[in-house]
Amino acid sequence: MPVRLMPVVAAALIDADGRVLLQRRPPGKQMADLWEFPGGKIEPGEAPEAALVRELHEELAITVDPAALVPLTFASAGLGERHLLLLLYVVRRWQGVPQALEATALAWVEPAAMRALAMPPADVPLVAMLERF
Ligand code: C5P
Repeated sequence: MPVRLMPVVAAALIDADGRVLLQRRPPGKQMADLWEFPGGKIEPGEAPEAALVRELHEELAITVDPAALVPLTFASAGLGERHLLLLLYVVRRWQGVPQALEATALAWVEPAAMRALAMPPADVPLVAMLERF
């Protein structure tokens, strides 16, 4: 069975105090109740930055200028027959106040405090990168 690659983009929104926004996945969805960097699947033919701007608007109701997306790192994780490729961007400028439109909760978290939260497997290695950023 060939492995299907699933490209996903996510954002580390960083506030003026250096805290990072995480959202809690809703029950009933894959990876339910885990804390993740906001983001989602890149649609076929879509540029990664365009996908992230779209996802941040859909999930948090914020507007982000694509020029404010700074690529930081990536991680990958096997999910059965699918292999997830997660690209993480740092975002320090946006318009609007983030609202949990799809998540059950939002939290601004110090990078060092993220290790205590249950996160999806591809998000976990990104935390160490953020701590050093
Ligand atoms: O949010 P959505 O369901 O579109 O995400 C697509 C896939 O990417 C899911 O399998 C989800 O668990 C995964 N994902 C992730 N980490 C994120 C965002 C999404 O592992 N920060």
